[in-house]
Amino acid sequence: LDSWNNDGNFKMNGSKASIQTIVENLNSADLPSNVEVVLCPPAPYLGYTADLNKQKIISVGAQNCYIKESGAYTGEISPLEIKDVGADWVILGHSERRTILNESDEFVAEKVAFALEKGIKVILCIGESIDEKKAGKTLDVCKRELSAVIKSVSNDSWKDIVVAYEPIWAIGTGLAATSQDAQDIHSEIRSYLKSEIGEIADSVRILYGGSANGKNAPEFKDKPDVDGFLVGGASLKPEFVSIITSRQ
Ligand code: 13P
Repeated sequence: LDSWNNDGNFKMNGSKASIQTIVENLNSADLPSNVEVVLCPPAPYLGYTADLNKQKIISVGAQNCYIKESGAYTGEISPLEIKDVGADWVILGHSERRTILNESDEFVAEKVAFALEKGIKVILCIGESIDEKKAGKTLDVCKRELSAVIKSVSNDSWKDIVVAYEPIWAIGTGLAATSQDAQDIHSEIRSYLKSEIGEIADSVRILYGGSANGKNAPEFKDKPDVDGFLVGGASLKPEFVSIITSRQ
């Protein structure tokens, strides 16, 4: 795809000082215009990050949201609140939330539908564990996670969804998938999407996530179904800029 997407998932990391350093570094960088970047800081820093950002190609996203606009849901985050502080995106279905917070495929799908309905775009994470990979279930897991969302949103909604393939065994381990392995599964994911939602699948961006860094990012450059990266650790460092510019 011509327009690609590189997103930083800060996870539960950061302070006002460290986020200011990251955003100012990005503000002073010469970034290409055909890249879309989403910075996803911890929720308390969403407005702060949005206010510091001066780059047109950069927007801000939350790492989670709830399925209600407001009310007695202590600790949860409304899509309307996300929007109100200047963020446009939300990461949903991250493996850390699926495993540590026990979020089911159906709950993730409900969140995706609600966020989209409220005008927030979604970075939808999917991907298999090491045991599932060893059992040859990679594509089955991805299909299962996607299928719940496919059932919950209209085909047209996929224009506002970015899929992030993040094999759990590659997250935070330093063992990224090879660019060819990523291409192969991304292509299968796209074929599956196409069979379910039709032609719009051709324009859905499919990101790779899991130990992506400034060094390995250029290896993915020529892979037609890798439309960018969802970056954890390296998005906290100056090398995030080299990931963003790795296709130039
Ligand atoms: P790392 O880049 O730290 O492996 O994390 C990937 C990830 O989970 C992004 O959502």
